[in-house]
Amino acid sequence: MTERIYLSSPDVTQAEEDALLRAIRSGWVAPLGPEVDAFEVELAAYTGRTHAVALSSGSAALHLGLLQLGAGPDTVVITSSMTFAATANAITYTGATPVFVDSDETGNVDPDLLAEALDDQVRQGSRVAAVVPVDLIGKVADHRSISAAAARHGVPVLVDAAESLGASREGRRAGQDGVASIVSFNGNKIMTTSGGGALLCDDPDMAARARYLATQARQPVVHYEHLDVGYNYRMSNLLAAVGRAQLERLPAMMERRRTWRRRYARLFADVAGISVFGGEDGRDASPGADHDNFWLTSIVVDTEAAGWDAEDLRAHLAAVDIEARPLWKPMHLQPVFAHAPAYVTGVAERLFRTGLSLPSGSALSDEQFTRIEDSIEQFIKEHL
Ligand SMILES: *Cc1c(COP(=O)(O)O)cnc(C)c1O
Repeated sequence: MTERIYLSSPDVTQAEEDALLRAIRSGWVAPLGPEVDAFEVELAAYTGRTHAVALSSGSAALHLGLLQLGAGPDTVVITSSMTFAATANAITYTGATPVFVDSDETGNVDPDLLAEALDDQVRQGSRVAAVVPVDLIGKVADHRSISAAAARHGVPVLVDAAESLGASREGRRAGQDGVASIVSFNGNKIMTTSGGGALLCDDPDMAARARYLATQARQPVVHYEHLDVGYNYRMSNLLAAVGRAQLERLPAMMERRRTWRRRYARLFADVAGISVFGGEDGRDASPGADHDNFWLTSIVVDTEAAGWDAEDLRAHLAAVDIEARPLWKPMHLQPVFAHAPAYVTGVAERLFRTGLSLPSGSALSDEQFTRIEDSIEQFIKEHL
């Protein structure tokens, strides 16, 4: 029995073990402490922000960010249809209605269609609380165009950078754009605290209010006094210690994932109908594009040219215990959000049907990667 190969497994080493032990022995076994404070400072510095608020998940960060921008009943929040459900779920927690916008060929929200959706929603009399663009699979969206469109209506932008930590575009780092942004440290993300997330912003009042809301909105008095409904959303001091070790290793972990990108690109170089999503070197075709974070390497299959489809390869790999996964199924196609308004061109749906993400974790061994390569090579030969 061979061991199963996952898409993106956590990459933890002695450094994380040492950090965790240090935190436990410090006595700060709570959702506060010196590791949380230090992690916030280091994370803000890394992303080029003034403030980072460490939270229990990226979803919690989205929820608190949206609340602060005024999302609530009788408002709408415009977001990318091609995303993980967490984005749309958090919008729904506030009582706001999500409005979905289709992708361009990069998979990120189509900036022109987003501008049209904004104009249309405003024309219809909707109160647009925020625009939430998503950096899909490590690729930073066109925030310059998105922010310009939002600014024309005075609407704030909250960037969902859960998948793009470490990437950059036009000299700006992932998480640096918008009034605020969020990142995630879930187990399968580019770096992990087992579970966790952060809200990033430059406004000290916003950061302070996020910390307040994340700790049950306790007033600073000796008895428990509450003026607002709060949440239990803070990150544990133990997990922040793990996060600090991961953040230090992030450049090396990205470099390892980049090696896999190159090897996949070589593997598919002469295979008709296959393109590496976002470019072989992590640069997409847009002008000034910098690089993605290599979180996942995905391919897009032109079935007519290839003679097989993404599902054929997925099934072949699954049979030998190698995980591969389609790109996100767009939110406008999800039964739970069927009622939500959507601006659709069909691009996201096509990417969902033709895209496949391949194992890309930095914890993969060379032997494991060779097993993946051999298996894909065999598939390609069988389908010539
Ligand atoms: C992972 C992810 C989230 C949610 O982060 P959690 O930490 O799992 O709550 C939000 N948005 C996107 C696009 C994600 O991929």
